[in-house]
Amino acid sequence: MKLDVVNLTKELVSYKSESLLTNVPVTRHVMGILKGLGFQVEQLRYVDKNGVNKLSIVARLGCGRGGLTLMSHDDVVPAKQEEGWKQDPYQVRQAGGRLYGRGVCDMKGPLAATLCAAARFKAADLKQPVFIVVTSDEEIQARGAWEIVNRSKLFRDASSGYGLICEPTKLGVVYAHKGSMSIRATASGRAAHTSTLKGKNANLDMIPFLVEMKKINDLVLTSKRYRNDEFTPPHSEWSIGINDHNMATNIYPVTSTCTINYRPMPGTSIEGLIERTKKAAKKHNIKVEVTRPGEPVYTDPTSAFVATSLKVSGTRKARTVPYGTDGLAYRVKMDNLVVLGPGDIAQAHIVDEWVEVDQLRKGVKLYERFIDHVCVLGKD
Ligand SMILES: [Zn+2]
Repeated sequence: MKLDVVNLTKELVSYKSESLLTNVPVTRHVMGILKGLGFQVEQLRYVDKNGVNKLSIVARLGCGRGGLTLMSHDDVVPAKQEEGWKQDPYQVRQAGGRLYGRGVCDMKGPLAATLCAAARFKAADLKQPVFIVVTSDEEIQARGAWEIVNRSKLFRDASSGYGLICEPTKLGVVYAHKGSMSIRATASGRAAHTSTLKGKNANLDMIPFLVEMKKINDLVLTSKRYRNDEFTPPHSEWSIGINDHNMATNIYPVTSTCTINYRPMPGTSIEGLIERTKKAAKKHNIKVEVTRPGEPVYTDPTSAFVATSLKVSGTRKARTVPYGTDGLAYRVKMDNLVVLGPGDIAQAHIVDEWVEVDQLRKGVKLYERFIDHVCVLGKD
């Protein structure tokens, strides 16, 4: 099958697979292509917490274990033309060597590049298998990747091999990224007209808790313990959000919410910070929920896999990125992971999201060379 990366990107973008909506139709489209290329496809379905059907897939060309896995997600962050897009964000516009549309960069363009690369190979050519993974819900806590890690039979076969997370890195090799942790703290009050003094203002419990959260933020931004110089920036923020949902100044706020987001780095433990948060919450009658989508990804930059990635991509030095990927789930089963893909993350999640056609075409070539190196030639 001959696939063109530009046409395929346009097709994939035309499905509005925002994370809150279903990704089943676009994933079925990808499945159809993979089956046409001779891949065996495993489907992992689930219903998300809003009752929406989701589908992630793991596909294999060739047989056996190990080999090379190319990983993408097919959900996108929301987009509306009213936000200032020059066109319907789900109809790709091509101009000046670029594609514009939601997901062209993050990451339906890179996904299309992996499919185009895989299309050049036949199972009979392969000494080792090629796997393609496509997930749902990457943009919201990587649920699809966790379903794969916990349930997929094919991923178990893939996990002893090399994994490329094909998110945009301008085709540079990324050996580590930060993890993800979030906290939701809720204080409750009692409703009444403020003139009666009979209600309870939820903010009064929240205020001392917030003071403590600010102290933690000061700590993580200055202390050596929470610093890792392999990253830019070398610290993560204890990012505090506050909301008391109050509609009028003469009503007692009855629910006061604080949200915390933190990106843990390899080699820094945050257990103590979580304990400190729970203790402060208890002291001030606040309910806390801690969500930990995953730990940081770290593949030794001196490992054989990173060396291979540098050689195949023609890059001199591997680097780190501050954002997260599905890798925070994959790392539980897969030791050799790097992030390597066309496009620039700075062009993602924005109005008029774009990617250079040249980057996508180079991405296809790079993934072809990688498949050839690992799966056809059977090299490390
Ligand atoms: Zn992404």
